[in-house]
Amino acid sequence: MSSLSLSRLQSRQIDRLGAVSRRVFFRADLNVPMMDGGITDTTRIDRCGEGIRMLAEKGARVIVASHFGRPRGKRVEAMSLAPIADALAKSIGRPVRFVSDCIGSEAENVALSMADGDVILLENLRFHPGEEQGDADFAASLARLAEIYVNDAFSTSHRNHASMQALARLLPAYAGPLMAGELAALAAALEEPQRPLVALVGGAKVSTKLDVLSHLVEKVDSLIVGGGMANTFLLARGVAIGSSLVEADMTDKAAAISRRAGEAGCSIILPDDVVLAREFAAGAACRTLSLNTTEKADAISDDEMILDAGPSTIERAKAAIDTARTLIWNGPMGAFELEPFDAATVALARHVAERTRTNGLISVAGGGDTVSALNTAGVEGDFHYVSTAGGAFLEWMEGKTLPGVAALLDDAS
Ligand code: AMP
Repeated sequence: MSSLSLSRLQSRQIDRLGAVSRRVFFRADLNVPMMDGGITDTTRIDRCGEGIRMLAEKGARVIVASHFGRPRGKRVEAMSLAPIADALAKSIGRPVRFVSDCIGSEAENVALSMADGDVILLENLRFHPGEEQGDADFAASLARLAEIYVNDAFSTSHRNHASMQALARLLPAYAGPLMAGELAALAAALEEPQRPLVALVGGAKVSTKLDVLSHLVEKVDSLIVGGGMANTFLLARGVAIGSSLVEADMTDKAAAISRRAGEAGCSIILPDDVVLAREFAAGAACRTLSLNTTEKADAISDDEMILDAGPSTIERAKAAIDTARTLIWNGPMGAFELEPFDAATVALARHVAERTRTNGLISVAGGGDTVSALNTAGVEGDFHYVSTAGGAFLEWMEGKTLPGVAALLDDAS
């Protein structure tokens, strides 16, 4: 997103909105983890609650809508948002009335009878097939409920769904505080970063992050590659990697990314030493091996697998991080769920956290297992920004335009 778009979005934030007595459709992501009908983590509700409360306090009539699970266009009671209403009420300190369908005469009547500061929660948007189809008629039915649209669901913004984009084009559209905060942090990290810009990308496979890697080598000054995906890069360079996780059919792509990095002036940092084990299990017997040696006796055996980066790699990665003014992190450096193979992930996460605290490093992390990897290291709160949006964060790292964000810039005002 260009700085022009970002400043246009900033002018579309809800603190600029004259909200008194206006019916506001508030698209949230209330897709919280549930077990046996109980909510196991209210983080998403609490985070969205901030914008909802802000609007209600300004005298708006707030109509909250969200998806929940994958009911595939049908009413599925186990995926009802009804149990969320109480949790939302608790979070914002106001009553929340639940409406059992997100469109239709009941929803319209309730919306029209709201008083200033009232908050209602609509039933799961995905109970209607039109939501995931991005259907214009479904969006028009939602638009009948409200006068203003607010999107605070960055984590869903890679979806072309009716409540994310078609609806935004039917009403004056605004970004909620979570959406605005996320976009500002992401823009600072990749659109107009303070350089040098270093990215650390780990995780299981090259194939799931091919577009991320291809985009990053065009943008960053150094790219640290770790985790299982580094094995494919090593194999492409002729290193025998035993029974490590690898995508042998992706070695050409890995080689092409390395080549392109060279042309674009991006240095790729790959492991030059690794931690090997014969079992994918916590506490498995392991050894560290330098890959610089050409001694046959010291090669990786056929039944050994690479489960983490070694100490020399950690030091080289730290040195690269020390050159950076901005750092983007996605994915673990090794099999971090299994001690001791969390060592590289933990050491580097702590190093980034320390540099962020003491050196003003701008550190942005997100996507997939990254949040739980940073939790393992106990440093989630020390990064400049940690995005909890999985798919949307990755698509942003791929340089893609997110439909939910584009629609905010192309609204009906
Ligand atoms: P991703 O969702 O692509 O970020 O991948 C995260 C997963 O990659 C985690 O479950 C890690 O355990 C796994 N992983 C990272 N490094 C390795 C490795 N060297 N071998 C096997 N799995 C790994």
